[in-house]
Amino acid sequence: MIVVGIESSAHTFGVGIVTDGDEANFILADERVQYIPKHGGIHPRESSRFLAEKGPQILRNAFAKSSIDPRRIDAVAVALGPGLGPCLRVGATVARTLSAYLNKPLVPVNHAVAHVEIGSKLTGLKDPVTVYLSGGNTAVIAYIDRRYRVFGETLDIALGNLLDTFAREVGLGPPYVVGGMHVVDRCAEGGKRILPDFPYVVKGQDMAFSGLLTASLRAYRKGVDLNDICLTLREIAYNSVLEVSARCLMHTKKREIMLVGGVAASPILREKFAEMAKIYGASVGVVPPQYAVDNGVMIAWTGLLSYKAGVVTDLRSAIVRQRWRIDEVEIPWR
Ligand code: MG
Repeated sequence: MIVVGIESSAHTFGVGIVTDGDEANFILADERVQYIPKHGGIHPRESSRFLAEKGPQILRNAFAKSSIDPRRIDAVAVALGPGLGPCLRVGATVARTLSAYLNKPLVPVNHAVAHVEIGSKLTGLKDPVTVYLSGGNTAVIAYIDRRYRVFGETLDIALGNLLDTFAREVGLGPPYVVGGMHVVDRCAEGGKRILPDFPYVVKGQDMAFSGLLTASLRAYRKGVDLNDICLTLREIAYNSVLEVSARCLMHTKKREIMLVGGVAASPILREKFAEMAKIYGASVGVVPPQYAVDNGVMIAWTGLLSYKAGVVTDLRSAIVRQRWRIDEVEIPWR
């Protein structure tokens, strides 16, 4: 079976082509392009314009690289959410068009589910607690009874958003990641002390980071040492994710932890998780950076699993859902 997958939920237009015929070389094509704002964060409309402009060429490149005749594919998969509406609509339009043109079934894919599935595929973990950390997501997820359940998430901004926004406001970035390390992580290395009175917010199993961002910016404007602020921000933010993840591990009695999403690449975070996992006798798997960030392969792979389990949609129902939660999706293939 061969499936093409299209991703466009935020700043990346990605097209992946995958097969289940060859375990070792399941990726037949992986083309992508990323919108990088000149200043500030991602503006949905500007990003969507960029994606619409670049998308068709990325699709052509993917078919060219794979040497697959488009008529030979079995299905077209597309990320319909969660994400930024205008951006999601670009991918949905391309996918609907391709599906209609080639007369191939259309498979709806939840972007968050796709992060988990490609992670499991590439790390070889069977049933992990997934810690999904990116610019737009902070969630601790575990599979129970045909769904990925959320065992804790952010109540306001995502962890990646916290790090990037702080870096931007104090002039550390962009770029936010230098030499595989976030600029806040890097700056924290020079920190000497944890500052008092910064908010550590874990409510039940949920986290909140906007108060921490405000406190950090306020300290910066007062002239407090930037290295100390970065160290404090990082320790509080990472440790709150760690606390929630550890509790999920204990509750579900699972024995694996998987880190996915752009922030998962942080070596500091990985170290913290490795230490915690040791205590609980769990193993840690980190998704390779290239596939921890948004890409078309994860949509194609999840589309393939879904399609084999009978998941398809008609073109009319293939509408984007900006707030499509991971725990709304039935997972019939596990
Ligand atoms: Mg993502």
